[in-house]
Amino acid sequence: TADPAAGMGLETRQAEPGAPGPAGFEHDAAALVERRDRAFAEVQEHYYAAPPRIERGWREHLVGTDGRVYLDMVNNVTPLGHGHPKLAANVAKQLRTLNTNSRFNYGAVVEFSERLAALAPEPLDTVFLVNSGSEATDLAIRVAMAATGRRDMVSLLEAYHGWTYASDAVSTSTADNPNALATRPDWVHALDAPNPFRGRHRGAEAARYAPEAAERIRALAADGRAPAGFIAETFYGNAGGIPLPDGYLAEVYAAVREVGGLAIADEVQAGYGRLGRWFWGFQQQGVVPDVIAVAKAAGNGYPLGAVITTREIAARYRTQGYFFSSTGGSPASSVAGMTVLDAFRDERLQENAADTGAYLKGRLEALAERHPLIGAVHGLGLYLGVEFVRDRATLEPATEETAAICDRLLTLGVIMQPTGDFQNVLKVKPPLVVSRESADFFVDMLDRVLAEGW
Ligand code: PLP
Repeated sequence: TADPAAGMGLETRQAEPGAPGPAGFEHDAAALVERRDRAFAEVQEHYYAAPPRIERGWREHLVGTDGRVYLDMVNNVTPLGHGHPKLAANVAKQLRTLNTNSRFNYGAVVEFSERLAALAPEPLDTVFLVNSGSEATDLAIRVAMAATGRRDMVSLLEAYHGWTYASDAVSTSTADNPNALATRPDWVHALDAPNPFRGRHRGAEAARYAPEAAERIRALAADGRAPAGFIAETFYGNAGGIPLPDGYLAEVYAAVREVGGLAIADEVQAGYGRLGRWFWGFQQQGVVPDVIAVAKAAGNGYPLGAVITTREIAARYRTQGYFFSSTGGSPASSVAGMTVLDAFRDERLQENAADTGAYLKGRLEALAERHPLIGAVHGLGLYLGVEFVRDRATLEPATEETAAICDRLLTLGVIMQPTGDFQNVLKVKPPLVVSRESADFFVDMLDRVLAEGW
């Protein structure tokens, strides 16, 4: 197969085992390479029985060291796709010009911050730049704690917000950490997962989640534990790409504000156009958060995250200390951030998320009519979830089947991954440049696996 990444002019090869280290370095290169491969294998084996080693990529395609080309259907870090020439060129140019810590107001950093602030709804106009999603949600929580002088936080069950201390504390997903609930600190209060498909309240009954959540927040305040804030994804990504019940965020945000807390939107996955508009998760719920966390797509794989809040909240946070991150929002990552914003505009990525997403969802729904293992197709835009159940009446999760289907898809050249607390949902999140042909290829391969067995 032709290498679609060929001709990109980028050197992506790692040192071969046994190759000497660069002059002046005393490392044993072979030992370093072996350690790297072991760590890589451990991560991969978490997901796949026979993981490929990926060497390079081009748009929604990845190329393995074995020369095979894979379709990357689960990658929300690269909306522009892999090997984007402008991104590579612009970051390289900035690295040659200036890349340093964030101590001064470098042109690119200021310009990117202004452009990011302009994307957020009024009155959110103040930006703190960091390196990752975990740092963004962690900082958002610290901002809420400092601005309110409180330490309790409210989050949702089945949520993932990151691995750093505060972001991990509010992460309740047992898929990512089987001990998440047992080890949650006492300042974290988790609300019932508002999942209209398999939660306590189903379908039309799901409207009951919001009043129950609001009641719980008021009860916490009455008990002297008024929360600093409520943090949630505005689209239930880690539960399987499930939209929140209508009106849920409006009622919960109102309750948390009524007791003096802040509403934090974790837009690390759902934001930045994956749902078809910049922040469609909270926009479609008709609310404006007090603090927004973004990352992943923001740098298209170059480390970049941000917290966006109001000037007034930022000022209250700054009274507690001075925010400084050595590499957060460096000149190079800011240039990456601006190139991503340009590409969203020039390549009409949000339109593709909406159009190809609707097309893909339609095809998956048609598949569900023929394959009873598909219990539901969730989601919106290019953030879809295919939920597998053994029985559509009891919704018994088809966990082992989902893992086997992902492994089988891999042998057919499709990279896919399970999600959800039961690991029974295919997480369909391709780069936003994905073509209809690639979407068709994915559905055809899934159809084949479901028809032939896995
Ligand atoms: N928030 C959400 C909703 C996420 O899905 C993730 C990562 O998967 C994070 C935060 C943490 O982001 P990162 O892995 O960049 O630290």
